[in-house]
Amino acid sequence: MITKADLEALIQRQAQPGSPVLSVYLDVDQSHAANLNRGFEAALAHMLRSIEEQLSDASEREAFRADAERVRRFVADYQPRAKSLVIFCDDSADFFWQRELDAPVRNDAYWSETPYVRPLLEVLDEYERYGVILVDKMQARLFTVFMGEIEEHREAFTSDRVRHTKTTGMDHIWSQKHFQRKADMHVRWHLRTVAEMMSHLAERYAFDRLVLAGPVEATSELHRLLPKRLRSRVIGAISLPVDAGEKDVLRATLQLGQEVERAEELKLVEELIAAAAKGERAVIGLEATVAAVQEGRVWKLIYAEGFTARGGECTQCSSLIPEERRTCPYCGGAVRPLDHFVERVVERVVEMEGRIEQVRGRAAERLSEVGHIGALLRF
Ligand SMILES: [Zn+2]
Repeated sequence: MITKADLEALIQRQAQPGSPVLSVYLDVDQSHAANLNRGFEAALAHMLRSIEEQLSDASEREAFRADAERVRRFVADYQPRAKSLVIFCDDSADFFWQRELDAPVRNDAYWSETPYVRPLLEVLDEYERYGVILVDKMQARLFTVFMGEIEEHREAFTSDRVRHTKTTGMDHIWSQKHFQRKADMHVRWHLRTVAEMMSHLAERYAFDRLVLAGPVEATSELHRLLPKRLRSRVIGAISLPVDAGEKDVLRATLQLGQEVERAEELKLVEELIAAAAKGERAVIGLEATVAAVQEGRVWKLIYAEGFTARGGECTQCSSLIPEERRTCPYCGGAVRPLDHFVERVVERVVEMEGRIEQVRGRAAERLSEVGHIGALLRF
């Protein structure tokens, strides 16, 4: 699993002159026919070859081959279990970082001064941490879902499971009513206990969003009983039997999560457009956005999936220049062109503790109509 600290260490890694990092995103998903019989090794070899072919300098090529060989060796020994593999390697600095992801990535490789983390940031943005509570009248189960993986926390509710009250053969009407009432009380008590426990569990398992699952009567009653603070994290309810398997819980949760994320992205883009039109702490378009990044004003960077742009970075003052120029407009220093300009903008925002939001689908189309990228500002 990838933590925020992991990611920050990667982003903070300083460029070492003459010692680039090889970044590899490899699809190893065994449900893709191309990856069977270790087809992903061929895909890797192909990507590495095309980078090497672009290197004209002999010493550069030698440094690249050392990085490439180390990655190739690792992948040759790798037994695919996850959907993707992410590797960053700089052999000359003895730097090797790899993680498996249960989320899909596009095959891609880069050789650049700093680790190419944009696809990783995008995956993390897409996969928030969900808590899923599966309840019925008598039981409660807790799951967390992160980056396409699900985990059940069996210990969460064990002590508080409500046992079913067994009837003892008294079958006249008064008795049935009496037992029914007693059973109803148990159900209410059970759901109230679950709701109370959820506050602690939300802290312990650190989920951003909560999904209620189970029969409709149970989830709607639980929703009513949840503390306000938790209720605001509920993104929806799904109808599932309380003994549903992990796979079914995962599938339903991811589907709900995606629908919610898409709707929120569209809302965010509309808010950005409206705020920028009124000049209320928002900018749209590459030039204005980069200027805001330079000034340290970006609170949330928003950009359309797949957006790329030309630009460079000043070798003297590190300013980002959103166009092709040779000299820096701020200090007159030389400007170095960047292959992955938008990525560098994203990294700057993360370094400033800003947030990033890559939008897809309809939200991306809408944002592209007005300038592909924008930002909500701190001031
Ligand atoms: Zn400069």
